[in-house]
Formats: sequence, C-alpha cells, structure tokens
Amino acid sequence: MRKSRFLDNRRLSLYLHIPFCRSKCRYCAFFSVPVDTPPADMYLRAVLRQVMAESGRWSGRRLATIYIGGGTPSVMPAAFYEAVLSRLAALFAWDPVIEITLELNPADPAPGWLAACRDLGVNRFSLGAQTFSPAGLRFLGRRHGPEHVRRAVDMLRTAGVENISLDLIHSLPGQDAAGLHADIDAALALDPAHLSAYCLTVEPGTPLARDVAAGRVVPPDADRQAGDMAVIRDRFAAAGLPAYEISNFARPGRESRHNLRYWHLEDYWGLGPGAWSSRREPEDSARGWLRRWAWTGAVANYAAADFSRPVEEDLVSPRTAFIEMVVMGLRLTAGVNLRRLRRLFGDPWVDELPDRFAAARSAGLMELSPTRLRLTERGVPLADEVSLAVLE
Ligand code: SF4
Repeated sequence: MRKSRFLDNRRLSLYLHIPFCRSKCRYCAFFSVPVDTPPADMYLRAVLRQVMAESGRWSGRRLATIYIGGGTPSVMPAAFYEAVLSRLAALFAWDPVIEITLELNPADPAPGWLAACRDLGVNRFSLGAQTFSPAGLRFLGRRHGPEHVRRAVDMLRTAGVENISLDLIHSLPGQDAAGLHADIDAALALDPAHLSAYCLTVEPGTPLARDVAAGRVVPPDADRQAGDMAVIRDRFAAAGLPAYEISNFARPGRESRHNLRYWHLEDYWGLGPGAWSSRREPEDSARGWLRRWAWTGAVANYAAADFSRPVEEDLVSPRTAFIEMVVMGLRLTAGVNLRRLRRLFGDPWVDELPDRFAAARSAGLMELSPTRLRLTERGVPLADEVSLAVLE
C-alpha cells in the first residue's frame, strides 16, 4: 500500500453530539431524547471523561474543525460549551483558522446566549429552517415558525456572525412547485453563506414511517424528488451558491470544511453517545485501513461508561475505504481525485474505474479526465445508482 501523505495526519476534526431535543420531530431518526431541561452537568461530566480517556490517541494533532450537532445543541447552556472547549484548548493546539460550527433550532437562541457562544470561538451557525411554510413545519412536527428563522438570522448578524448556514427539506407532501419556489425565495432572502437541501426521507421507526405505512401520508416519488433537486440546484447556483456536494451549496470559500474532511475520509473524533470516530491505521498495520469506534447506546449507558472499550468497533479494509472514497467523491462537484486515490491505494483499482463506469460515461452521466472522475449534471440525480458500479 502506498504512503498516506495524501491524508492529513497532523490535523483533526471533532464532532460533539448533543443527544437532547425539546420534542421529537415526526421524520427524525437521529439519536436524541426529548427533555424539558437537558441534564447538562451529568452530560458534561461524561463528555469530559471521554475527552480525557481518548485524547492520548490524538496527541500532537491540531484541531482543524469542530462541529457541535445533535439532537439540539441550542438547548444546552453556553457554560457547557465553555467547559468542553476550554478543556480541548488545554489539550490540543488549534488551527489558526479553525472552523467551529454549532447547530441551532431557530426557536431557541437568545442574544446573550449567541454572544457567549460567539465569544467562545463558535464562528459558524447552522439553522434548521427546513421550510418556511407554516403548514410544512406543522407536518414535520417542528416546534418553530418561519418567523423564528428570520429572527435568529437577525440575531446572528447583530452579533457579527456572517457564516450562517440554513438546512432545508424539500419534496414535502403538499408542497407544489410554487411552494418549492417560495421556500427557495425565503431562504435566499436571508442571504446565507451556505445551504443544505435534503429530500424528505421516510426513516424506519419514525412516526412518519407509520403514517406512510397506514396510508395517511404519500411520500414523494423519485421523479418529483429529482425535479425538485434540479430546481434547487439551478436557483441556488444562479444566486451565487453553487453546489459543491449533491445536497450542499455555498458561496465561494464558505463550503463546510468539517464536512469536506468527512467526505475525504480524513480522521475525526466523535464525542457523545452514537458519535463515531474514524482514524487511519498505521501504514504497517495488518488490521485494517481505517479503525472506527463509537459509544453507542442510551445516554445513561454513555454517562456510566469507563471509556476503556468502545461499544462498537469496525476495522475498514483497504478495499472498503477505496469504495467509500469513490462513492463520496462522486457526490462532490469536484468529483473523485484520481491522483489522490493512486497515492493512497496504488494503481490497479484506479485503473479499473474507466471500465467499471463505462456504461455511465457512454450514457452521459459521468465524465473522466486523467485526474478526475465526476458526475455530469444529468448524472447527479442518479448518483446512488451510478455509484453501484464501483461495487460490481
Ligand atoms: S430537532 Fe433535529 S434531532 Fe431533534 S427531533 Fe427534530 S430533527 Fe431530530
């Protein structure tokens, strides 16, 4: 196997999971529990114990990105983040241009709380807007209205924050073409630096899945999803936010550095229940190419863990890591960097790719240059199907 100089083993990304929400949304399959008041002190003690138990694995790394997601990070007091970030600052050097993102429920933030998070170094905020339609928000079971999104953006700007991302969900039942354009108009009117737009998916075990099974809700079909996605891509690109990943759009320079590091299979450290960590194994390891581990299970189990042995652990083979890089690379507008793949995995697997994707290329779904393999605009809606060829 070739040397991994094309992987960054000097820096590190960190994900902190906040497994609490004030209520559960109808479509949500993320790991979170509904609470009125989150047990912040108990959770802080557990997170700090995980930090201390695992920090030695990352010694010498510089923190490049931190992403605080959930769940609902905005239900936690700012003092919680002050305690976690100051412990991390004591243990690790921080990249001078570190990106620290915090997810917000639009109903939560107050000016004092936002200013406190900003003063801790949080420099990117991601708002779960989802839709600007009151009926759509009720359908999704969200606890905020469209006015909360506008108010939260105003508050962020007043606090001097410009790196604002909005999450949208498209192809909702009952959302027609005019409704889709209205959501796009409302999102663009807030002038975000970044947008994520995902199709409504019906996740097993959710109230939405039960409603679909009972015939109470008809989910969007694939043609409508693809049509909506094409409208979103065109409109956001025309507004100066081109897609850099199938579902993610940014003004130039405002791409999520944290997510790009995930998609490039760089190392990351996950804190909290259900948060996976991923680390490149040493070159001479016979065990696997990547090692992944997580403290899965209930919050109470996480709080009681001694962090000596992860609940779940995977060793990812070189072949699986190669496939993951191709599949994730195809979701990126920049495509798969073949030179990087050759450096990491050698020539034979890369040399097979033109044949594996011959049908997609001749159908105009994909283009190949000596250094890049990427989907064409026609291929984007079929990314999942086209990617399957790398498995055959
Ligand atoms: S706020 Fe987010 S994590 Fe919490 S239930 Fe809703 S979708 Fe799930």
